[in-house]
Amino acid sequence: MGNLSALHGVPGLDKLLFLRDIMTALNDKKGSLEGGVAGENAAPMSDFIRDMVREDLGNNKHGGRVATRFPPEPNGYLHIGHAKSICLNFGIAQEFNGVCHLRMDDTNPTTEDIEYVNAIMHDVRWLGFDWKEKMFYASDYFGRLHQFAVELIQLGKAYVCDLSPEEMIRYRGAPDVPGQESPFRNRTVAENLDLFERMRQGEYADGAKVLRAKIDMNSPNIHMRDPAIYRIRRGHHYRTGDRWCIYPMYDFAHCLSDSVEGITHSICTLEFEVHRPLYDWILDALKTPCHPQQIEFARLNLSFTVMSKRKLLQMVEEGLVSGWDDPRMPTIAGLRRRGCTPEAIRHFARRIGVTKYNGLTDVALLEHSLREDLNRRARRVMAVLKPLKVVLTNYPEGKTEELEAVNNPEDPAAGTRQVPFSRVLYIERDDFMEIPPKKFFRLFPGNEVRLRYAYIIKCESVVKNAAGEVEEVHCTIDPESKSGGATSGRKIKSTIHWVSAAHALDAEVRLYDRLFTVEQPDADPERDFKTFMNPKSLEVGRAKLEPSLAGAQPLEPYQFERLGYFCADNRDSQPDKLVFNRTVGLRDAWAKEMIKG
Ligand code: ATP
Ligand code: MG
Repeated sequence: MGNLSALHGVPGLDKLLFLRDIMTALNDKKGSLEGGVAGENAAPMSDFIRDMVREDLGNNKHGGRVATRFPPEPNGYLHIGHAKSICLNFGIAQEFNGVCHLRMDDTNPTTEDIEYVNAIMHDVRWLGFDWKEKMFYASDYFGRLHQFAVELIQLGKAYVCDLSPEEMIRYRGAPDVPGQESPFRNRTVAENLDLFERMRQGEYADGAKVLRAKIDMNSPNIHMRDPAIYRIRRGHHYRTGDRWCIYPMYDFAHCLSDSVEGITHSICTLEFEVHRPLYDWILDALKTPCHPQQIEFARLNLSFTVMSKRKLLQMVEEGLVSGWDDPRMPTIAGLRRRGCTPEAIRHFARRIGVTKYNGLTDVALLEHSLREDLNRRARRVMAVLKPLKVVLTNYPEGKTEELEAVNNPEDPAAGTRQVPFSRVLYIERDDFMEIPPKKFFRLFPGNEVRLRYAYIIKCESVVKNAAGEVEEVHCTIDPESKSGGATSGRKIKSTIHWVSAAHALDAEVRLYDRLFTVEQPDADPERDFKTFMNPKSLEVGRAKLEPSLAGAQPLEPYQFERLGYFCADNRDSQPDKLVFNRTVGLRDAWAKEMIKG
């Protein structure tokens, strides 16, 4: 099973994985009913990273300790790809009795902000993880990192270089072209110490000098050709202000931060595989007491969206979305506002597993995980998105009945509620046709349908407006057909939902579609990903809701019967101005596809 999951992303394997999932779910039916999302409390997970952790524990490699970290740069909001990494790092810590640190990887003064730090903390907690007191900032290590750099110089393993950035690139060569040594490479330790100190004092302009590790200009690995480890960069840092004008480069800061924190397994995405020799070189050169193991896994790529923070920021700044938490965004904040649950995200992460192969995951799989979770927990209610008025001509004016409706057939404990019924109702415009095609079994003149939890009605006539459109449908009810009545068992082809007009709440509904019209909007570097944005990704309408929705809490999930899952918007919905977001429709393209095979 573990091996199968290592192949995820290979074409066709999505389906196999899904079948495996169904099998697991069937074997684990009891667990899935009792313990949250199907499979979440199931058998221990196995993948190449967890296998490695198990082996290290078996060999007592780090004295039986497991310490991981999630190290976001606070330069944007977290997205669903980060969620994969969060579930992995915090998940491993939980499973192996270890700890997972939350570290702000904040070594870049120009792009980072406290707003992002707060959003990151909020999102990690919301996903269900806890770093306890283990919250760290790379910027807290600036003093130590500077000291480490001085040490490297003293060891003769770092030098100050005056080449311009363009010259550095030229001297560096290419994988198949040997590099050329910098003319500044053989400066003495004393000279380097002096120059580095003067860099720190602010004597030189940004970019005029860098500190480089002295490794090997002929290494087949470009990252080992004397990489820059400190640069001059004037910019106000959101935490350290103007205290520093030199900042450590990512590769230097990251391994040393891991080491300082006593991390045992430093898990990162595949593109850092080629940086691993540098990670190890720095820690070896400085003989740090703790040398974490870097392990790489494939990042999550999701179809019909983009995941780079830079691109997400661009859409926010250009006003192409309403913000980082726009419900169409793949951000955690956007998914949350859309109505996605942490359980669904965690289960999705479990389902996709971790692998060494880059691939594209179908967004329908995320939606499938979401429906599965919402189906278990969402209360069913009735709402009409495109209202058509129905008058029940043989039902007394002014009379109201309270009919009993089931809150959630999946969850008997959710109980029932009363839904008011009266002479004038709204039904869905699509549930009526004046001239029905064959196989249309819903309401049309002369036909009968059952109203959910209520009576059987028959369409007798229609009222049209000046433009000839149907404005009202006149029906009669069969008074004996409601639950418990003499004719309640009559066979009727269709059941439709409705809302009593006199009792209905008005609401704005926001129906979302995919933000992009193509699977991989940023696949072609020649083409601006924004040109693939879906102009119909948001449709706003007015709906009529059953009165019980007056008490809907923001983000509380509901299933609007026959229409999809919805929740009240956590920003814009007010008691006197309800706004509901559609989380996801009911149709499960993913599961359908699987059944077809
Ligand atoms: P950018 O989008 O600017 O390239 P980033 O996505 O690497 O940045 P970080 O804040 O550095 O953003 O990421 C924090 C952690 O999340 C890193 O360990 C990174 O490997 C992981 N991560 C980022 N994107 C993904 C993804 N799509 N799938 C899995 N893990 C990811
Ligand atoms: Mg990064």
